[in-house]
Amino acid sequence: MSDADLIIIGAGPAGMAAASIAVQGGMRVLVLDEQPRAGGQIYRNVGNGAPRGWLGKDYAAGAGLVADLGHPNIRAEFGATVWRVEVGGRVIWSQGGISHISAAPHLLLAGGAQERPTPFAGWTLPGVMPAGAAQILMKTAGLLARDAVLAGSGPLLYLIAAQMIDAGAPPKALVETQTRAMMLRALPSLPRAVLALPTLVKGVGLLQKIRSAGVVRHTGAAAFHAEPNDKGDIAFSFTAKGRRHRIETPLLLTHQGVIPATHISRAAGVRHRWNHAQQAFEPIVGPWGRTDQPHIHIAGDGAGIAGADAAQAAGALAALDILHLAGRIGEDSRNQRSTAPRAALTRARAIRPFLDAAYAPSPEILAPEGKTIVCRCEEITAADIRQSVAEGANGPRQVKTATRAGMGPCQGRMCEITTRGILAACGTSPSPPRARTPIKPITLGEIASLQEQNA
Ligand SMILES: Cc1cc2nc3c(=O)[nH]c(=O)nc-3n(C[C@H](O)[C@H](O)[C@H](O)COP(=O)(O)OP(=O)(O)OC[C@H]3O[C@@H](n4cnc5c(N)ncnc54)[C@H](O)[C@@H]3O)c2cc1C
Repeated sequence: MSDADLIIIGAGPAGMAAASIAVQGGMRVLVLDEQPRAGGQIYRNVGNGAPRGWLGKDYAAGAGLVADLGHPNIRAEFGATVWRVEVGGRVIWSQGGISHISAAPHLLLAGGAQERPTPFAGWTLPGVMPAGAAQILMKTAGLLARDAVLAGSGPLLYLIAAQMIDAGAPPKALVETQTRAMMLRALPSLPRAVLALPTLVKGVGLLQKIRSAGVVRHTGAAAFHAEPNDKGDIAFSFTAKGRRHRIETPLLLTHQGVIPATHISRAAGVRHRWNHAQQAFEPIVGPWGRTDQPHIHIAGDGAGIAGADAAQAAGALAALDILHLAGRIGEDSRNQRSTAPRAALTRARAIRPFLDAAYAPSPEILAPEGKTIVCRCEEITAADIRQSVAEGANGPRQVKTATRAGMGPCQGRMCEITTRGILAACGTSPSPPRARTPIKPITLGEIASLQEQNA
């Protein structure tokens, strides 16, 4: 007995856009999201609590999508963590310590992205955290980091810096790893990026805001090192323009871009490939979001990084295709109604090759060395992993067996991609690591509580 005609995992821009289109076609939709409310990463907590104008108008624009989830044919469950996805449409999710089984003929995975881990000496110290995590605190609790240093690479770093400036808590410094060579490699993609001119203009605007706020900016930085100082803060040192620099800060916020969160799609058995430009694994999806698994579509940053506008458009396209596959609309109607989202997707994606090249993750972060911790859960270092490779491990599974890297509570979310980077640096080209159920940590009680839901 199906609970819905379509189950959507993830209430970010992709999932919300898809839900809205699907119900317009008469479908009953079940939306599951582990966050307390809709919004995903970009629109996290939008419309809830005190307005935070300093998060910007793009953020505020998400309120409309969230409101559309109020449709009577949408059942949205929050605080609902999906930990198992089965081909054939069964989904197992936990909420408030109780597990539930839901089923539907169609499944849309819209689980989004995660921040790329940024391993360097000292990244696990108190006082060092991902910049995206700090932004989550800004969105959910209005918490602002004071005198923080932002370090790494990627457009999100500029956005967070600008939001901090507008909130009256400008960062102490911006330390960026992108080099002149990366910028030169990106130049050939600039003409195509002009298709997404508003995004380009927004980026230039963020940089101007950072400059006019007088934030110290270093580029071409490398050899990151963090250690505690005698005041309990962080002493952050790095090399830039041939000189060693040292900055003391209560909070070091790191970022090297975002990567597709693929545990759910890998556990669902969807085929994946290595995206060299984005230095990440991604599921293989067709132009409508179809995968090699029957009735599983994927949309949004979980299918490859392209940003919120692309996620929204891809969600709409996937929903139109699902309506067609379910016999709710004909092929012509699907194709006609896809014109606008298809054009929006093309525009949003046009800037990716430029951004991927200009803000490529730093090689030191991709394949660290020495005592740098790679697996935070099990405290496995880069040297341990390189040793296991020297002793014959030639893939992620052998490295995991030999070192326990990836066997902790995060199930490899913080280390898999680095292990892959080290394996590649040692001359192998690893296949995507397998992901097993449960894809999120759950208690034995939650397994024991499994009960069939009767709609
Ligand atoms: C930390 C972070 C901050 C970001 N901030 C911005 C920003 O301010 N501006 C911007 O333009 N872009 C931002 N991005 C980029 C962001 O990926 C895209 O802008 C956009 O949100 C992608 O939309 P999406 O619908 O694909 O996924 P998301 O918006 O990420 O939504 C995916 C949803 O799926 C849910 N989910 C995932 N797995 C499960 C599961 N197993 N069970 C239940 N629910 C699940 C998540 O809780 C999430 O709500 C950020 C990315 C990250 C990682």
